[in-house]
Amino acid sequence: MTAPLLSLRGVSKSYGQIHANQGIDLDVAPQSIHAILGENGAGKSTLMKLIYGVEMPDTGEMLWEGEPLKLTSPAVARRYGIGMVFQHFSLLETLTVAENIALVIDGRKAELIERITTLGREFGLEVDPLAHVHALSVGERQRVEIIRCLMTNPKLLILDEPTSVLPPQSVTKLFETLKKLRDSGVSILFISHKLEEIRAVCDHATILRSGLVTGNVDPREHDAHDLARMMIGRDM
Ligand code: ATP
Repeated sequence: MTAPLLSLRGVSKSYGQIHANQGIDLDVAPQSIHAILGENGAGKSTLMKLIYGVEMPDTGEMLWEGEPLKLTSPAVARRYGIGMVFQHFSLLETLTVAENIALVIDGRKAELIERITTLGREFGLEVDPLAHVHALSVGERQRVEIIRCLMTNPKLLILDEPTSVLPPQSVTKLFETLKKLRDSGVSILFISHKLEEIRAVCDHATILRSGLVTGNVDPREHDAHDLARMMIGRDM
């Protein structure tokens, strides 16, 4: 594989007696859609918190483009080029799309509207910049969240269980967006427990069980039974 964008070596994080992540090794390639697959409690959210600077590892090393990565906060993660779209959206209902984005991104209103429109067209994230958030569908709200992240030109975009809130037609559209983003040079970390979705859209999957990595595979080369065995230790 080409030199990884992000690497974790022996990363561990415990909460008291609970070993949420234990000696995690992980390489995220540039321009890839990389799944973090695991059932509830496997340690996915903890891993995301470490990669987005919300928490610090107890032990182990993180590398960004081969150099040590010290994340002391999400603001530092964003400066490196790491963006995160949370499962629960954080948009203000009474403001427009453009006003929500203006809260976190500098720029004149006309420029922001232009960028929202351009990103929407380029990546299948169409949304009316002047619409009020309360009038948007869940899929449109998620598009705004993704656009807001893209405004900072991330190299890595973390999506936490992005399909859990979406109707099926929006899932298909989201996957098209993720592929376009990957092809434009952005890597995606796709957090999920949904095997079929991971097989449909991801180039690589790191599988977690009880805080441990149980597989690092190309999910297209494994059927759902194989992946389930790695994820839960038995067939589904
Ligand atoms: P889910 O899909 O349910 O969010 P997950 O795979 O994201 O699960 P984590 O949330 O990372 O898993 O949790 C891994 C383990 O760490 C679980 O046993 C959880 O209860 C525990 N844990 C996570 N955060 C904390 C915390 N702040 N304090 C104590 N225990 C925690």
